[in-house]
Amino acid sequence: MDDPNLHKNKIFQKRLSERQKLVKQLLSHGHIKSDIVKHAMEKVPREEFLPLEQKPYAYSDRPLPIGKGQTISAPHMVAIICESLSLKEGMKVLEIGTGFGYNAAVVAEVIGETGKLYSIERVESLHNIAKETLIRTGYSNVNLVLGDGTLGIPEAAPFDRIYLTAAAPYVPETLKNQLNAGGKILAPVGEIDLYQELILMEKISDNEFKTFNLGGVAFVPLIGEHGW
Ligand code: SAH
Repeated sequence: MDDPNLHKNKIFQKRLSERQKLVKQLLSHGHIKSDIVKHAMEKVPREEFLPLEQKPYAYSDRPLPIGKGQTISAPHMVAIICESLSLKEGMKVLEIGTGFGYNAAVVAEVIGETGKLYSIERVESLHNIAKETLIRTGYSNVNLVLGDGTLGIPEAAPFDRIYLTAAAPYVPETLKNQLNAGGKILAPVGEIDLYQELILMEKISDNEFKTFNLGGVAFVPLIGEHGW
């Protein structure tokens, strides 16, 4: 029988030089700042998290379509998300918008085996593909949930970090309530289909937040009770 570890190692060796070249570019542009994010992005094979026809473009720094009208974020955006959340080993994190699971795999790599990642997706076919891919690439410890991410996961709260990979009209209160004191939430906030600003909020106490605007971005819309 095939050794599953050998199979996984083969996946991580494939296209390694292309991945290293992209990471170098993200470092020189200042998107990657820490060793922990550098190592994670050097490791996770983006091509595994793409539909067949998009695999050739896995290491160009741009968003790519994954079907159902959805796109996965460009690698520089994944780096910005990880760095601006100051993710650390062992953190408990919630992602809204699993897509094909690439961003989730990078975050899982950053927070390590002592960390806990939950990710919610509303489109069932994407949720199923992400599940299969994360297991195949060795990230079977990511907890994937099918449903409306704007409601969060009350039974798994509180989280150290929450991030939305779809654009919201405002940062949902439900999600802010599921953060630990000292926790951070990151969300693209603004107009549907046009332009948003990446908003980072740090929870100082139960109803006190510090807000930072990290600049203009473009994400697919967040569809749900506290979305569009
Ligand atoms: N994190 C992904 C990005 C996926 S694109 C990456 O690796 O880059 C954003 C995803 O958010 C889409 O798959 C879309 O279906 C999903 N989405 C939109 N609204 C949602 C909601 N309310 N709950 C959960 N997922 C949602």
